[in-house]
Amino acid sequence: MRNTSDPRFDEIGRDADGAAGVLPRGHSISARSFDDPDSMVAAMRPGYPVYCLRPHTLAANARRFLDGFPGLVMYAVKCNPHPAVLYHLHEAGIRHFDTASLPEIAAVREGLPEAEAYFMHPVKSRAALLSAAKVYDVRHYVIDHADEFAKIAEVTGRTDIDILVRLSTPGADVLFELSRKFGAAPGEAAQLLRMVHEAGFRTGLAFHVGSQCGDPGAWRTALDSAAAVIRDAGVPIRYLDVGGGFPANYDNHATPPLEDYFAAIREGLAAMPVGPDCTVMCEPGRALVANAVSLVTQVHLRKDDSLYINDGIFHSMNEPAAVGIRHPARMIRPDGPGARHLAEFTIYGPTCDSTDVIPHTMALPADIGEGDWIEFGQMGAYSNAMSTRFNGFHPDTFVTVKSPPFQPVRRG
Ligand SMILES: *Cc1c(COP(=O)(O)O)cnc(C)c1O
Repeated sequence: MRNTSDPRFDEIGRDADGAAGVLPRGHSISARSFDDPDSMVAAMRPGYPVYCLRPHTLAANARRFLDGFPGLVMYAVKCNPHPAVLYHLHEAGIRHFDTASLPEIAAVREGLPEAEAYFMHPVKSRAALLSAAKVYDVRHYVIDHADEFAKIAEVTGRTDIDILVRLSTPGADVLFELSRKFGAAPGEAAQLLRMVHEAGFRTGLAFHVGSQCGDPGAWRTALDSAAAVIRDAGVPIRYLDVGGGFPANYDNHATPPLEDYFAAIREGLAAMPVGPDCTVMCEPGRALVANAVSLVTQVHLRKDDSLYINDGIFHSMNEPAAVGIRHPARMIRPDGPGARHLAEFTIYGPTCDSTDVIPHTMALPADIGEGDWIEFGQMGAYSNAMSTRFNGFHPDTFVTVKSPPFQPVRRG
């Protein structure tokens, strides 16, 4: 049965302060630490989902970007805003954070020493702008429309802030296309750059090709478009922000190495009509965090080839449902081995909603059943960040593990 000898945990994995394993902002990291998810399961026998965070993997991911990307690396907080993720990325040297809301700005500015928050949402409320500028001293803002620029200038009353213009870029091979909702067309973007410059602000261009982009060439195309806009605008460009969209590996997405993306970006930058005082930046979310978290769930009932588990599409599994991402999965059974042969199972989530089902079957040991655990790999991105409280469920127990990431197995 579950280990109740640790006084910091009651039956649902909350610590003595009721903090549910959530790490405090700042310095004292108090999540329980295990060698690997299997030893976590053996010790905790959790009936609720448990996120297994790998701080060493976050650090390695940060290092890979800081070493390989030719400019500033901003972490897109929305991808996984958990305080422990922010803390470990900051420890690893990430000092710039792409934020889209006041709570994200507060998490960065109040929780992380010497960290800059950039307000990269093209549509902001007046209240958020006022607090960002006056309370949190945020100095970088994105616009894709003249009215948003007027709003920022009026509300903040500051001219010592910098305004980046979000450019919409041509469609690329991505899972989430984001240029339809945001971004000015090239002609408008050039006009906005001139308007911002003439109003006395420093300016620059930002774009985002979309999430989980499988093609490094998308950045070449976008950078060529940016170069044309910059020539058209004819004003000094102080920032060039190439966005996020760097991919992670999933069972159904084998993607090129990050270094191919950095090389494509370097090529695109070589011809860019900007001076040496132009700061290049990127905004990775997924690629910094996806492989650093796995999720341990438990099977609560088996009916034939259907498994009912304690997490689903309204909680950590939004992406399998929304965009068909397939996370690697394996059974954990601390009391003995599972059957050698695998069978295909349909996985249902915990809520009463009939759509709460992962839309693809998964191969798991044929004898899997009630009480067994299933670990899902590559769960760091858009999992806890998108989890609702539907039906009273809300996975929020984090532990740290020392083992390598749970990666997809590549066959052939
Ligand atoms: C979501 C988002 C990101 C992060 O995207 P990933 O695909 O997670 O890298 C970066 N920039 C902007 C503007 C975004 O909306």
